[in-house]
Amino acid sequence: MEEEISLLCKGLKLTEEEQQELHLTEEEFTLAQDISNLYLVALVISDRDVNKGAFKATMTRVWNTEGGITFKDLGSLAFKDIDFSLEPFWIQLHDLPFAAMNIRMGEKLGSRAGKVITVDVDEKGIAWGGALRVKVMFDLSKSLIRGCVINVGDARSWIPYKYERLPSFCYHCGIILHTQLRCSRQASDGSTQNTSPLQYGPWLRADSAQKPSHYRAHSSSSEGKATGSGRQASFDEQG
Ligand SMILES: [Zn+2]
Repeated sequence: MEEEISLLCKGLKLTEEEQQELHLTEEEFTLAQDISNLYLVALVISDRDVNKGAFKATMTRVWNTEGGITFKDLGSLAFKDIDFSLEPFWIQLHDLPFAAMNIRMGEKLGSRAGKVITVDVDEKGIAWGGALRVKVMFDLSKSLIRGCVINVGDARSWIPYKYERLPSFCYHCGIILHTQLRCSRQASDGSTQNTSPLQYGPWLRADSAQKPSHYRAHSSSSEGKATGSGRQASFDEQG
């Protein structure tokens, strides 16, 4: 704080009036922090200019709150104090044998991608459905994990990971915070799309219509195709 003030004041000759400090009690100061519990700060990652009107309309519709929502553009100012480096993601682990569709496998495989928050299993620790779903806290500075080789006895197999509600990401290095148009890694290793095939792609996106396994477990009597509306909150895709 001291440092910021000195930076701000560098070159400024404060008048006598400006030098009068405003003294605040802890309570007065923290009142703003109480109110800030009602705020949500969002970071939009996009290579294109953000259509603020479309963003407001989309988020208002998706959140569907009872009261009104007020939007305020904070620019890049707010983000130096807020850590956006971690983000929870649901990952679907595909091609697992049925015997491996359990909480322990979810934890082991999920931990390759980040800190495991939960595994989508029933009360017996078993997952039902096309994929084992794991929610992990993912470090956005790292490349997406595309899968994991598991080795059982002498048999090796590749378990592909697919991410639900994945925003735009770089198809060159697999990092979410930029797309390949602004990839510094692509620029530094001199490769182009023509010389080396992209290592990442839209195939990392999961079909978001998949129901949680516990839902399927309780309604497994009829094998009807799930018709979940899978409401997409991705602003990027809706332009
Ligand atoms: Zn990149």
